[in-house]
Amino acid sequence: MASIEYTAFEAAGLASLQTSDVILIEDNHVLEKTIATLEGSGLKREGVTIFKVPRQSEFPLTIKYVVEELGKNAVSVIATPEVLLHLLPLVDDYTKKLAAQGKASFSLSFNIGVVSTDKNSVSASNIFAFSDLIVGIISSNSTQECYDMAIVSGLVAKTTFIPMINYFDAAYLDSTKTTGGSQQNIVDVLTPEQLETYEDAVKVELKKLVDEHQKTQQSLSDSAEQQEEQTNDSVATDSEYLVDGNIIKQVIYPAITDLVLEGYPSKNYKEVESDISSDSVSTLVISPYFSKVQRESYTEKTGFLGIRVYRPFPQDKFVKAIPQNVDTLVILEQLGESAKVWGPMVFDIVPALQKSAKSNEKTKPVQAKIVDGLTSSISVLQILESPKYLEKVLEYASSKNSSTILRIDDVFLNNKIAEQVESGEAANAQHNKDEEKLGLEVAARLPYEQMLNTTFSERLNVINAIHSKTVWGPSEKLETNPEFGFGKFVNTHQRQKNLKKLVLDILGDANISLGSETREALTEWIKKSDEPSLKFDSKLAERIVQLVETSTDIPEQKLNQLAELAPYFFKKSNWLVGADEWAADIGNSGVHHVISSGYNVNMLILDTDSYQKPQEATETHTLKLNNKKDIGLYALNYGSVYVASISAFASYSQAMTALIEADAYPGPAIVLAHLPKSTEKLISSSYSAIETMKLAKQAVDGGRWPLYRWHPAGQGEVKEQFVLDSEKLRNELQEFLDRSNKLAVMSTVAPKYYSGVDNSLEARKKKEAEEAASRDLQKLMAGLRTGPSLTILYASDAHNAEDAAKRVNRGAKLRGMNPEIICMEDFEVDELEYKENVVFIVSTAGQGEFPTNGRKFWKALSTASMNLSNLKYSVFGLGDSQYWPRKEEYIYYNKPGKDLDRRFVELGANRVLEIGLGDDQDSEGWEAGFNNWEPQLWGAFGVTASIGGADGAGLLDDEPPTITDEQNKIQSNYLRGNILTELADDSKGNVDDFTGKLLKFHGTYGQDDRDLREQRKADGLSPAYSFMIRVRLPGGRATCDQWKSMDDLANTYANGTIKITTRQTFQLHGVLKKNLRTTIGEMNRALMDTIAACGDVNRNVVATANPMQPHLHQEVYELARDISEHLLPKTTAYHEIWCGGEMVAGKAVSPLSVDYGQQDGEQIVEPLYGKAYLPRKFKIAIAIPPENDVDVFAYDLGLIAILDAETQTKIVGYNVAVGGGMGMTHNNKKTYPRLASILGYLPKDKIIDTCEKIVMVQRDHGDRVNRKHARMKYTIDDHGVDWFREQVELRMNAKFEPERPYSFTRNGDRYGWVTTRSGFNNYTLFIQNGRVADIPGYPLKTALRHLADVHKGYLQLTCNSHLIIADVADADVPTIENLLKSYNVHNKSLSALRLHSMACTALPTCGLAMAESERYLPSLVQLLEHHIDEAGLRNDAITIRMTGCPNGCARPYNAEIALVGKAPGVYNLYLGGAHDGSRLNKLLSASVDEQQIIELLAPIIKQYALERLNEHEKFGDFVIRAGIVNETRFGMDFHD
Ligand code: SF4
Repeated sequence: MASIEYTAFEAAGLASLQTSDVILIEDNHVLEKTIATLEGSGLKREGVTIFKVPRQSEFPLTIKYVVEELGKNAVSVIATPEVLLHLLPLVDDYTKKLAAQGKASFSLSFNIGVVSTDKNSVSASNIFAFSDLIVGIISSNSTQECYDMAIVSGLVAKTTFIPMINYFDAAYLDSTKTTGGSQQNIVDVLTPEQLETYEDAVKVELKKLVDEHQKTQQSLSDSAEQQEEQTNDSVATDSEYLVDGNIIKQVIYPAITDLVLEGYPSKNYKEVESDISSDSVSTLVISPYFSKVQRESYTEKTGFLGIRVYRPFPQDKFVKAIPQNVDTLVILEQLGESAKVWGPMVFDIVPALQKSAKSNEKTKPVQAKIVDGLTSSISVLQILESPKYLEKVLEYASSKNSSTILRIDDVFLNNKIAEQVESGEAANAQHNKDEEKLGLEVAARLPYEQMLNTTFSERLNVINAIHSKTVWGPSEKLETNPEFGFGKFVNTHQRQKNLKKLVLDILGDANISLGSETREALTEWIKKSDEPSLKFDSKLAERIVQLVETSTDIPEQKLNQLAELAPYFFKKSNWLVGADEWAADIGNSGVHHVISSGYNVNMLILDTDSYQKPQEATETHTLKLNNKKDIGLYALNYGSVYVASISAFASYSQAMTALIEADAYPGPAIVLAHLPKSTEKLISSSYSAIETMKLAKQAVDGGRWPLYRWHPAGQGEVKEQFVLDSEKLRNELQEFLDRSNKLAVMSTVAPKYYSGVDNSLEARKKKEAEEAASRDLQKLMAGLRTGPSLTILYASDAHNAEDAAKRVNRGAKLRGMNPEIICMEDFEVDELEYKENVVFIVSTAGQGEFPTNGRKFWKALSTASMNLSNLKYSVFGLGDSQYWPRKEEYIYYNKPGKDLDRRFVELGANRVLEIGLGDDQDSEGWEAGFNNWEPQLWGAFGVTASIGGADGAGLLDDEPPTITDEQNKIQSNYLRGNILTELADDSKGNVDDFTGKLLKFHGTYGQDDRDLREQRKADGLSPAYSFMIRVRLPGGRATCDQWKSMDDLANTYANGTIKITTRQTFQLHGVLKKNLRTTIGEMNRALMDTIAACGDVNRNVVATANPMQPHLHQEVYELARDISEHLLPKTTAYHEIWCGGEMVAGKAVSPLSVDYGQQDGEQIVEPLYGKAYLPRKFKIAIAIPPENDVDVFAYDLGLIAILDAETQTKIVGYNVAVGGGMGMTHNNKKTYPRLASILGYLPKDKIIDTCEKIVMVQRDHGDRVNRKHARMKYTIDDHGVDWFREQVELRMNAKFEPERPYSFTRNGDRYGWVTTRSGFNNYTLFIQNGRVADIPGYPLKTALRHLADVHKGYLQLTCNSHLIIADVADADVPTIENLLKSYNVHNKSLSALRLHSMACTALPTCGLAMAESERYLPSLVQLLEHHIDEAGLRNDAITIRMTGCPNGCARPYNAEIALVGKAPGVYNLYLGGAHDGSRLNKLLSASVDEQQIIELLAPIIKQYALERLNEHEKFGDFVIRAGIVNETRFGMDFHD
């Protein structure tokens, strides 16, 4: 390293030479020497350009020039803080794009030296204006550090594109050169080799960081497609790693400074540096600097902490560094002399202290008083370095009892201490007292005054006299009236025009011989006189004034006129500043004149009335609000007015950007500024900065005061017309923003986006979009700032809690409240401190647990430490009082709701209404409790309890009415709905709810991987959405070619596995939305379709699969196929959507375009179903006794083949059974499984027609209101079997004959080889739970693919999820056997219990699963096998079935042993189903876990082995005979 002596700016400049392509340096006297040094420096690399920028306002344009014209990539700026204000809009735009795209075309690093201004004020305020952006901000404590941090900044900017600001106190550091000896300014400079090594190391670390993140993401994704998308979306940067906007924000930005600082060669830089000798430290001095402290001058009780990195604020490190016993924090901040409120560091430090307790339960929050030392005349570094200064500050701090602001300049310069604000004490500063009388919160409005002063300094012209205190006062003061101010402005404007005319006269007067310098200056002024004040060079005006004063060339009269108009040579930023009264009456206040004038004048309007407690609302106040809220809308509608809504306390950067944009806009501009206050007369003595910040956050985050900027189209460089700057938005605002941005794209982007659209259509689309945006804008404005806020937080595994939350939301809107509805998982617990009224609605999951989407919230709330004394709340819980039936388990009933309620009491919140409890056991369900609780809620929150009228219908136009499933079907235009639009929307992986329900009719529905749900949520990702596709396969028969097609589709588009379902068909899981059409299209090409595989129609018709008599099997197979075809929906929607209107090979897709004739002028599309289709799903099965492998009684309609009495070889007809169904709801006795009742016998030629008529009876009489009561089993039980029979007979014009005898022996499959017809055989292969997958040691999927290649017969799927390799010629048996053997996939050695086990899919794909099923049953069977073997029952078939929820997809209720999921790891255990499927089982024990299951079953198994009558007595019969459970004879007995 070389050591040379430099100034602070020079040191930073040298680093810029080594890291940048171009340096833009402010060309003024402060930097003259730096410019010379850099230009002569040997460190300058080839290609590096140095640009001197003479005017601060030219920096943005110069940056654009060097990037766009010269192609420079790494830009470094060396300047004073004032330049930053000109660059703020550019950096704001830059960082927004970076966050969206993850890349930029150039990098920016700033080296900003704080120097004394003419006003002798040293301020770093402008640096803090960037604190809300994705910008790194670091400080340098010495000249060496100026160099080092400039290297760090340049490197970070170059490698990540994150802009960096390195700031330093140039004035002080350079002054120490003369006073403190040259040693202090010696700079060690990195050699090119060192720099290269450092840069490489940084890139490696960054790549590691990104790789680790991406690896985590990829491991969470189960889709190769998604990974591909992610890769495609990524952006290659020259730093050799791939990033997107989210990675920049979430991964790189938080880590960057730490990573780069730590690696700096031969130094040990830290984000937070401390000198804290022990835990006895009671006073801690915090500043951006550290190294200058003379430690020996202070006792151990004083500690020092330097926050080198201000952004990203190193919160965790800061919290860690704070000693537990500290009682005073002294924060030193370098702010301008106009700063009178808490400095920016306080706003980072206070939340960090509050969070300190949350990270560790045992840690108390640090409760230190804060002394915020503001200084503009003395350097913070100087104070730190000089014990005589710092001791005085510490002395002051120890003399105070509570938090306070110390104006240090007054301490040292004026020898007095000025206490601006003191919380908890009535210590009002004298100079505030006059202003207090004016009725405005002095301390709160000061930031805006401060910002105007800082931003525009000498250019600022507050026309209605900001420097007179009356500008902040009530409207009766003439000077504060906008009309008055505007009059003054017009007068000024006229005088400027007069001056211009005068100058033109002089220049054009041939009789006046001007000196060349004067002529040149005046000509230059004329040229620039129309430029915005921002770009105007005041030096030119100063020069002209001097020339005019000394001129002897200009005639006296004109000279006098010039002298009088001389002030107008200067261009000003003209502002009218006003408050509430201006906004209250736009028409009379004069605001209207300003808006409509078109003049370049700016208005800053402070809104102090936006926060109003409900009980304080009055009619007058509401009127005022209503008027006020129009001001933004009014201005926006003008279309040519710049409008912004800002809150300095919520986002300093956004507020500053808006002021700068308003100033630059060459027309009228209105800036609405939020000024939080909780009461009309809040005075400065009770003012609390923290409280103000909370109120501001409450208003902005709650959406009551959104931050936005509207830049009229076609003006300036701003692309977006409307920018919502609020970070957290209500959903409707986000929607608006999205639409608005789309509009902006349509308006401004080249027409290539619309190449397929002709001009007239484009114009129409644009107009529609504009109208929609305008409507939304009006809605937005109308929805803002009305009524008291209400936050509704819900958590729900099903939809009930969410539905209840929506009802509260609607009720709140009807009563004029301003509600927001948020799922708990999307809500940060910390935010509660900023909320006013909150309603919590939570359902109960598992064993008194929170629903999945409420767990994170509850975990955070349980350990939170916060004071919620300002929060009013009420809780509504949903649960089932019988879900956990034992007395000691009653504690689980509504536990989450009760826990929440208790926790909020602990946190000091105000319960305004006792918890409401909804109980599923109530005859009206949870709604009974809700209907009792909800009406009381409104009075409790102090809003009108009754809205009058019928439910307020029609009062809201922004909330679509809830559409029922029935309406959804009717409105779907025969199953079309929005399916095509939703499928085409590639911005999301799922579809909306209504489309989802319609898709079921097409054989598919959306799911998400529940294994990944929580982690993805935690990572800020949407759920891993995909779709399940179910094939319609009547009779369950597939060809080998069809099997191969499914195998290919599973590999290409699904999760690589095939599921054989309990209804004899194929399912694929994990198909992405974008592949749905392709996959279903391919299935059609393979002669399979998916229509009616789900939905409220007749679904797949199943038929017995055990072909003991093959010709009979063939007959029922054909019957299944014919019934299925006959009952198919006739709409052409399926054909249109999935097959593009094209017919496909064969007849997989029915010829659906049949004309069904006219009726009332309308084509009958669905002659059987009508527009509403069936009330619920409908299922049909066909069995041939003695095999009941289909569980014929489990379906809505079961057909039992009756053979001819003599030969028993021909089917003559069928016993028709109706009203079976498995689904129920735990503990809801109104729901139950039911086995079908036999209506009677019919000859086989009547069967298809009878099926149709039975469907019609259900269509006409099924319950279309309550879907839980809509299955045909309830229709039959409601009316009786005889009534039902009559209804069918009425329609079919025939009578049922009496039931004919039949006998079943089992409902399981028959395994192994059986001979079917002469010379042909079938082999039934056990497939565990129907999952065809390759697992180590069991390559089933590969084996079956191979089988499909060689097998000459067909494949028969069974209703127990197994596979029959059918029609194998004798000669081929060895081949098949060998093949199965070679893959080790035969049935040999499996226990009879396992062979008769069956589980539904459940987790991770089924959205209704409460517990594991398919993934768990095999291991449970293994545990039971031990007891089965011990009992000698290995070859005794016992059916055991498991489902993840009570819906019963695996037909658990007619198994001998059944386990039905209730909660993770917890099941209800049922026993006693008949082995032949003719009897339901009965609950043995509720809510048992694995250990309890084994403990319960082991002795029963043993008892069965010992006590059964003989080997023919089945387990299900035995447990009833032995009195272990009662027999269930009818569905309605099931719960008894
Ligand atoms: S029984 Fe329940 S958990 Fe199992 S697949 Fe059916 S709905 Fe899902």
